[in-house]
Amino acid sequence: MIEKKHITDRFIKYVTINTESDPDNPSFPSSENQWDLAKVLVKELTDIGMEDVTLDENCYIMATLPSNIENKVPTIGFVAHMDTSPDFSGKNVKPQIVENYQGNDIILNEEKNIILSPDYFEDLLQYKGQTIITTNGTTLLGADDKAGITEIVTAMEYLIQHPEIKHGKIRICFTPDEEVGKGAHKFDVNKFDAEWAYTMDGSQIGELEYENFNAASAIVTISGKIVHPGYAKGKMINSLHIANEFIASLPPEEVPEKTTDYEGFFHLHNMKGSVEKTVLEYIIRDHDLDLFEQRKYLMQRIAFDFNEKLEQDLIEVDIKNQYFNMKEKIVPVMHIVDLVEEVMKEAKITPIIKPIRGGTDGSQLSFKGLPCPNIFAGGHNFHGRFEYVPVESMIKATEVIVGIAQKVAKKFT
Ligand SMILES: [Zn+2]
Repeated sequence: MIEKKHITDRFIKYVTINTESDPDNPSFPSSENQWDLAKVLVKELTDIGMEDVTLDENCYIMATLPSNIENKVPTIGFVAHMDTSPDFSGKNVKPQIVENYQGNDIILNEEKNIILSPDYFEDLLQYKGQTIITTNGTTLLGADDKAGITEIVTAMEYLIQHPEIKHGKIRICFTPDEEVGKGAHKFDVNKFDAEWAYTMDGSQIGELEYENFNAASAIVTISGKIVHPGYAKGKMINSLHIANEFIASLPPEEVPEKTTDYEGFFHLHNMKGSVEKTVLEYIIRDHDLDLFEQRKYLMQRIAFDFNEKLEQDLIEVDIKNQYFNMKEKIVPVMHIVDLVEEVMKEAKITPIIKPIRGGTDGSQLSFKGLPCPNIFAGGHNFHGRFEYVPVESMIKATEVIVGIAQKVAKKFT
């Protein structure tokens, strides 16, 4: 039903506009280039016939597809983000299209010998016979999350062109700065005014997610005392050694590289130090709220015990919550997940329902009063040169959006 070339052209138009966000820039949005895509999208949404198309001062686009039925059914929303990850360059993206993929190695860049191989990325093999869009090996692709934007725009266009498909009011929003954790920060939930929404920001076809980590950051600052090493006995306090003991006091198996599924962790991602002062930067993650609280407590407890033993307050732990598991906000309205599962099955897609080992904008939105599970956008290997997306997965995601609109109208009439 969705034309392959049409959706491919649209996707390529979006990914060739650089929208890399910047974690070090405190302004909003964090990079000026996100406006470039925003302006293109505003024009396109207006052109396809969306109503109330707005772009606010923080670079959030919202638009409405009005209901085409008499009955009042819940207003639902679809959300995707415009920025790409600062982990890898998003400048001069030159997508390559591989038609009728045969399960072979894909040469991304001959000169630099960069190869996308199913020997390493075995997921590729599920897409034999399909059209795969890849990078040229020097940038990321930006299917995260321009595939999501493509699918939402294409679904809205399809619904506008097919008035025989009945649906209630639909709101859409494209946000900036998701990749730097701020995509939901200035999202005006009241203005959006939907009962619930979906982020189109998952990975492979079938993904449907409503559980994510509870997340906190912890900065551990350890003070030492520097004295000439020749005269240091009983006087010097080496913060590096204390840091070493502190690190060793945390459970060694509970780290990202040794955990999976619902297992939480402490992740030491940066350390800097000298005799006088050492700073350890951790992130703490757990799906279970009690275990999450216990993890935070354990860090404080270890610091407390050290300070007691050393008879002075040398270790300071500063913990800040980052986001929470949306599950507690979704379970009371579980029908919003169930209906997606039904739509997927009707579209011959096998739902893959699993906890996210990370967070989404949807988790913050859910806590702002807009329950917001996450649906696949179709891409793989996000945030790097091996990112790719099968066009057929984008088409399926578009069908899922159309299907959800239809199902809500039917269910609530
Ligand atoms: Zn994303």
